[in-house]
Amino acid sequence: MRRILVSGGAGFIGSHLCTKLINEGHHVVCLDNFFTGTKNNITHLIGKSNFELVEHDITNPFFIEVDEIYNLACPASPIHYQYDPIKTMKTSVMGAINLLDLALKINAKIMQASTSEVYGDPIVHPQNEQYWGNVNPIGIRSCYDEGKRCAETLFMDYYREKGVRIKIIRIFNTYGPNMLPNDGRVVSNFIVQALQNTDVTIYGDGSQTRSFQYIDDLIEGMTRVMATDDSFTGPINLGNPNEFSILSIAKRIIELTNSKSNIIFKPLPNDDPQQRQPDISLAKDVINWSPVVQLDEGLRSMIQYFKEKTN
Ligand code: NAD
Ligand code: UDP
Repeated sequence: MRRILVSGGAGFIGSHLCTKLINEGHHVVCLDNFFTGTKNNITHLIGKSNFELVEHDITNPFFIEVDEIYNLACPASPIHYQYDPIKTMKTSVMGAINLLDLALKINAKIMQASTSEVYGDPIVHPQNEQYWGNVNPIGIRSCYDEGKRCAETLFMDYYREKGVRIKIIRIFNTYGPNMLPNDGRVVSNFIVQALQNTDVTIYGDGSQTRSFQYIDDLIEGMTRVMATDDSFTGPINLGNPNEFSILSIAKRIIELTNSKSNIIFKPLPNDDPQQRQPDISLAKDVINWSPVVQLDEGLRSMIQYFKEKTN
């Protein structure tokens, strides 16, 4: 049994990670400022003797004795990270410094939840970990993209300069239960709209692509990366290589929900990446991992979740 800190533990990914770690018998400290996370995501854990909930903002230093730290704290949906871009940047950069200083002090292993956004609007396709990306440093997505890139730099420098045991994972678009219905990301938006028979809103012409990974696959990959030898730092891509256009996702969700919704087209936000697909060769090699949940299966379970939630 290990003591594990999960920052951002009340969010979408964090709540699934806390649940898995608790089920494995570890002692979990869930830290969150509840900006986009909610206690509802972790109600089933509250009261368990091996679960602690701490309300804290990682832009401020924090002290605790743990063996491992997963740093997930950061809003991930464009509407939420663009709400207060300066705060988003502070969360990525100051949050990384505070948790890396903590890891250094207590000799904990620490994982950074980085993102496929570090590849920006990629020119190389699919994206492997050697690709440095194509990111606009001054656009509306930059607070998130550059904040995450800076956090990766900090992780590598704490590793090289101070010997902190780090892991960097680059997460590609992930969906599943515990996403907020008003989260603004594409899968949650489309399912909520389809269930309510309101217009399904495509930004641009829908030809842009994403590769969608179901939450259970990601959580399995994350814990496998954490268990790797200290000599492995990453970065390592975690995502599902099956790539779909946004238009095809909209049509599929309308079919699966038997919805009467119409598809409407709205302006494409600035700097919206045109394509994204992970090369997961490294994950196959190092952690013997590849996603097992395919899109229809994942969408069905998410549709069921939102049906129950909105009833
Ligand atoms: P989320 O918004 O549901 O979760 C983020 C959590 O962090 C929330 O609980 C929020 O309240 C908390 N938080 C935000 N700022 C904080 C701060 N300053 N101090 C403490 N807590 C804070 O998002 P998610 O989808 O669960 O994403 C989790 C992590 O994974 C994020 O770091 C995100 O960048 C990364 N990621 C997610 C995806 C995805 O597709 N979901 C893709 C790439 C990377
Ligand atoms: N998108 C869309 N309609 C929506 C929400 C998103 O067409 O209601 C598009 C968005 O413009 C982007 C893609 O879907 O091209 C994925 O968006 P999301 O915010 O989920 O993830 P990200 O852009 O960060 O990969």
